[in-house]
Amino acid sequence: MSGSTDIPGPERSAGDPMAVLNPTPAVGGSPVSLAPPTASRADPATAPEIKIKVRNLDVFYGTKRAVRDVNMDIAARSVTAFIGPSGCGKSTILRCFDRMNDLIPSARIRGSILLDGEDIYAPDVQPVEVRRRVGLVFQRPNPFPMSIYENVAYGPRRHGVSDRTRLDQIVEESLKQAALWDEVKDDFRRKSGLSLSGGQQQRLCIARTIAVDPDVILMDEPCSALDPIATQRIEDLIEELATTFTIVIVTHNMQQASRVSQTTAFFWVDPDRTGHLVEMGPTWQVFTAPKERVTEDYVSGRFG
Ligand code: ADP
Ligand code: MG
Repeated sequence: MSGSTDIPGPERSAGDPMAVLNPTPAVGGSPVSLAPPTASRADPATAPEIKIKVRNLDVFYGTKRAVRDVNMDIAARSVTAFIGPSGCGKSTILRCFDRMNDLIPSARIRGSILLDGEDIYAPDVQPVEVRRRVGLVFQRPNPFPMSIYENVAYGPRRHGVSDRTRLDQIVEESLKQAALWDEVKDDFRRKSGLSLSGGQQQRLCIARTIAVDPDVILMDEPCSALDPIATQRIEDLIEELATTFTIVIVTHNMQQASRVSQTTAFFWVDPDRTGHLVEMGPTWQVFTAPKERVTEDYVSGRFG
């Protein structure tokens, strides 16, 4: 099915910010073994509040359908991992959640995405406000060429915070929440964000996202450019952040998905290159007792 010409969609264009971010993902990791957890804070069974509801989502680039009929509920204050082969639409779906696809001229969506029950594509919704409530952290850390302080203050300033004391407070709190404060507290006002290490830069980008007080933080392969130690720090941070924020992380690292997430969504891509959701469930279940054969093959490192 195609016929995307009749699909209503955003008409704004501002270049393709994703062009430089196209992933060259590693092959999925080796099998992991997980036991069903005892009920925990973030277990959807005990924390049933749904932050994002996706209904019948199709995404097109021009006439090509990249994603078909995705339905999912994303639990609040927990970590949901998106896994699946390259090209199955993981980044595309993430970009729908904060309306970043609006910035890709050929992108169109059909279906609905509800954030706290409200359709983020409704005509009266401001994309800027959606992007404040739903932050996106990219694969490659991308600090602005300015001081650490200004990187974090940038968002709040744009959203109208001008009081110096309040900005100072937001910057300090955000850097603390992103587990970067201790490393930068002596020179964050003059030191450039670009002078930090890769892992620190990624935590700075997380601080920048936190600074505008979002509900949801999306992370698209946030550790794929980082070494194992920097990766570990981000994983620890994700666990902490999930007490406050709803986190969706795309990862090609099976161990990472199993370590950080409570829920896993597995996507696959048809021979015609249309991506779709195969199954979604508690992470332990998707990895140890998946419902579908294709999931089992993928998570255990057998493809096709
Ligand atoms: P993943 O993140 O799972 O690797 P993507 O969401 O990047 O998958 O891509 C899904 C499909 O959409 C692929 O076929 C890809 O080529 C296509 N696609 C992604 N971004 C664009 C774009 N800006 N323009 C056209 N096609 C795109
Ligand atoms: Mg991607």
